[in-house]
Amino acid sequence: MKRVLILGSTGSIGINTLNVIREFPELFSVEGLSVNSGIDILEQQINEFKPRVVCVCEEKFAVELKKRIGNKCEVLSGKSGLVKIAADYDYDILVGAMVGFSGLEPTLEAIKKGKRIALANKETLVVAGEIVTKLCKEFGSEIIPVDSEHSAIFQCLVGEKISEVSKLILTASGGPFLTRAKEEFKKVTLEEALNHPNWKMGNKISIDSATMMNKGLEVIEAHWLFNLSKEQIEVVIHPQSIIHSMVEFVDGSIKAQLSLPDMRLPIQYALTFPERLKAEFVKTNFAAIKNMTFFEPDFDKFECLNLAYQVLQAGGTTPCILNASNEVAVEKFLQGKIKFSQISEINKRALDEIENHLLPDLETIFECDNVTREFSEKLID
Ligand code: MG
Repeated sequence: MKRVLILGSTGSIGINTLNVIREFPELFSVEGLSVNSGIDILEQQINEFKPRVVCVCEEKFAVELKKRIGNKCEVLSGKSGLVKIAADYDYDILVGAMVGFSGLEPTLEAIKKGKRIALANKETLVVAGEIVTKLCKEFGSEIIPVDSEHSAIFQCLVGEKISEVSKLILTASGGPFLTRAKEEFKKVTLEEALNHPNWKMGNKISIDSATMMNKGLEVIEAHWLFNLSKEQIEVVIHPQSIIHSMVEFVDGSIKAQLSLPDMRLPIQYALTFPERLKAEFVKTNFAAIKNMTFFEPDFDKFECLNLAYQVLQAGGTTPCILNASNEVAVEKFLQGKIKFSQISEINKRALDEIENHLLPDLETIFECDNVTREFSEKLID
């Protein structure tokens, strides 16, 4: 029986993780759950999965939850609760499904405990990839990617040597604005930007998919997960999202991992690796799919993708600057305070004007995150 701790249990990855766990009650139990503020869904999850502990990041919702559930389970709160839940409780696998930079601290705690990390929170690797991968080695912790592209690559690499890889090919659906002209980006509505063609996801990642920032973050994530250079990580547009990504080897042979899009597959794989369990989430019928198409991404139109390659080259705190600025800009777009086209402009300004610190320690990264948030918020105001 594996005990699972899910950080971000009411988001789409969190809910799908519980959907997988529900299928295998004899294999998995839920040790703990965390949410930002969504206590209504959390309460249902507590009743169904009976975790030992939960953490609600926003204090007032933690107080409200305690009133509702009595002593059904322990309730922690705030940032300190999140660190405590990852550091002090007994679990085998941490599912990192939180949004953004906030996933970093609890993930580091789990790594120091030598736990398996099923990682969906790509920002953790984007902002602190060097530190995270170093600590994993030191403490014997393994990161199994949940992001569908990285899960695909991870699966393609089973039984292979990384030294025999010539490149990774990350597929991208291209998001909702694949065929829209760049000049039209000023007029994009929130509803259009949230309407992803192939995946149903949370707001932040849906907007990141529309700007292709998500693919940019994934390029950086792939760099740290698989230890390959930026020249070895390529993005190709594949609107059907059937091939989840590919690996090309030195002999020219290519392996791909395919299925109809369904996040339960990579989640389950991250929980059960190196085993595979029988599941009937999706059945892929190629005759019904008929066509798979591919083309190059438009780096001029999707400036955020370009910026991601630039920060991968520049290193230091630039990935942290890009991530923090983007988190602020996306939040402001979701609030209707800026235009869609301004997201990439704000990110670019932050990178141009905030100083890069090479070889940052954790403290420098936290400071850089703060400084950038302030900068981008001021810029928008
Ligand atoms: Mg992805």
